[in-house]
Amino acid sequence: MNIAINKAHYPVTVLGPGKRLGIWLQGCSIRCKNCVSQDTWENDAEREMPVAQLLNWCRKTAANGLDGVTISGGEPFDQPQALTALLDGLIRWRTKAKLDFDILCYSGYPLATLKKNHAAILAKLDALIPEPYVDAKPLAHVWRGSTNQPLLPLSARGRKVYAQYLNAAADPANKRIQTMLDDGRVWYVGIPGRGDMAALECSCKSRGVELGGVSWRL
Ligand code: SF4
Repeated sequence: MNIAINKAHYPVTVLGPGKRLGIWLQGCSIRCKNCVSQDTWENDAEREMPVAQLLNWCRKTAANGLDGVTISGGEPFDQPQALTALLDGLIRWRTKAKLDFDILCYSGYPLATLKKNHAAILAKLDALIPEPYVDAKPLAHVWRGSTNQPLLPLSARGRKVYAQYLNAAADPANKRIQTMLDDGRVWYVGIPGRGDMAALECSCKSRGVELGGVSWRL
């Protein structure tokens, strides 16, 4: 089974609690207005890899421990079979190695659609952040881009880990975006506030650095 991946990183500390493996799937059919991850939209066969290879990378990269796995995109539920295989592998690893990490997944689909079409996948998750990004609704809560996106624990582990964060406010004075360099590209990980990426672009320009091929504009 292959899975199309945009990127994967460890540790991610801005999309869920603790030190996490972050896995971004490639391909999104939802296409929310002003999405900051437009580089993940196109289906791209060149970004496919065997799920088993991705799981090996997870085990090796987080060998010293992890608090959770965050799966985002792109739209993870646009690859339901690959997502199922990935979740099955993560759960097998967690059980066999007696680990206690949680699995959080983002989706731009409405909760009702996910419940109707993907109940078996939801049953494998500890927490879910569903619903499309709505640019007209403000950023108010941690790990979410707009106020229509709830944080939903889906398991006993999820309820334990996420209870304190369900309505936790995003702190505008303490925004955290991770940056990383990979293959000559700069990655920004996290949930930027409205206008933050334009401000970053402006700030880079004033220092003589032109950003080309940015993910928040096609
Ligand atoms: S915010 Fe998520 S669901 Fe919406 S277009 Fe961007 S990647 Fe797709």
